[in-house]
Amino acid sequence: MSTIGSNWKYRCKAVLISIRPVAWVVAWLTRTSPRIFMFHRFCAFPHGPTDRVDGKTFEWILSTLSRGWRVITLRDYLRSPSGAASTQHYVVVITVDDGYADFYTIALPRLTAYGMRATIFPVISFLDGKSLWWDRLRRILQSTQVSYATGEMLGEELVLNLSSPLERSMTYSKLNAALLSLDNENRSRVLARLSQLLKVETMEIPGPDEQPLTWTQIQEIHTLGHEVGSHTYSHPNLTQLSREDLSEDVRASKERLEAFLGTQVLSLAYPNGRLCDVNQSVMEEIRSAGYARAVLAYLVPNGAQDPLFLPRMAVTRDRVDLLWKLYGFEVLSLSIREYLATLAKRVSTLLSIRGRNPLRVPPGTILTRSSPPSEKLRGP
Ligand SMILES: [Zn+2]
Repeated sequence: MSTIGSNWKYRCKAVLISIRPVAWVVAWLTRTSPRIFMFHRFCAFPHGPTDRVDGKTFEWILSTLSRGWRVITLRDYLRSPSGAASTQHYVVVITVDDGYADFYTIALPRLTAYGMRATIFPVISFLDGKSLWWDRLRRILQSTQVSYATGEMLGEELVLNLSSPLERSMTYSKLNAALLSLDNENRSRVLARLSQLLKVETMEIPGPDEQPLTWTQIQEIHTLGHEVGSHTYSHPNLTQLSREDLSEDVRASKERLEAFLGTQVLSLAYPNGRLCDVNQSVMEEIRSAGYARAVLAYLVPNGAQDPLFLPRMAVTRDRVDLLWKLYGFEVLSLSIREYLATLAKRVSTLLSIRGRNPLRVPPGTILTRSSPPSEKLRGP
């Protein structure tokens, strides 16, 4: 039983989605919001790594989607090159990032069986045989014989505990989060320092469990009607690149795919896909490079308004989480939170103008987490 299962919020979600009339009312209320789902990796069996969706769960997802949902590619959702908003309802877009070979072996046959099409976003340097940085990091931590290490990295003295699989996994998560925000050069430097510290030789080529799609498979996927978009050339942090490097990376990946497939590539998935990974310069460069659609990795308030800032929702093997997102509860709860935040701001502004804002704290007041009741309020 997962720890998440004991969480009361999780149980509330499970109850709400099980009341189908409620679920379908929420689905109807949010019918114009596309469910752009984001996958990364797949595995053959349910006991495979937890960050991958196993074949059986993926089949269940497709079977669920086949009952009342319109599964289309991002290209078909926003067909117009100008990115005009689609009027289609109950739309689901399946996107798969990075370009791992397990898409071909696990997901593709099942998509074909259900007659559904996906949009894949491979990283070009990965297809060309250069491993992705998080796989190199995982490999270093998994293969080292060192249990504890200390060394200066990321601007501070770090203590690495690798004494058990759990500790290794926690160390991986912490380093992954820290490396995520670095530029490619600094990240490579940290990985080199780490491999030196942990006495492991780093290989640039992908390990046996990290294989990319081959170019022949990319061609076959395209021929089957799936969309192949760009996930940039080298998966950098776009906001940290110079204008020249940014232009070079997003254009080179587009041109490479277009030359190989003989078709226009108009969709892009931002590397990392956090809000901080996209800014005005990045969007301007993406637009000038000729992209018409670009996806983030998270939901954004009032999502799907700008075709170059489309929200996505991550899919795991958690079925409750999938149904919660599919029926639109996630989108609706974000909209409600946004509405309430805006309302509170307006009320606060209005009361400030009138000079009697009860929410405003007089200067000099000391607030404590739980103030003891005053003597006057105590009982007789
Ligand atoms: Zn990625």
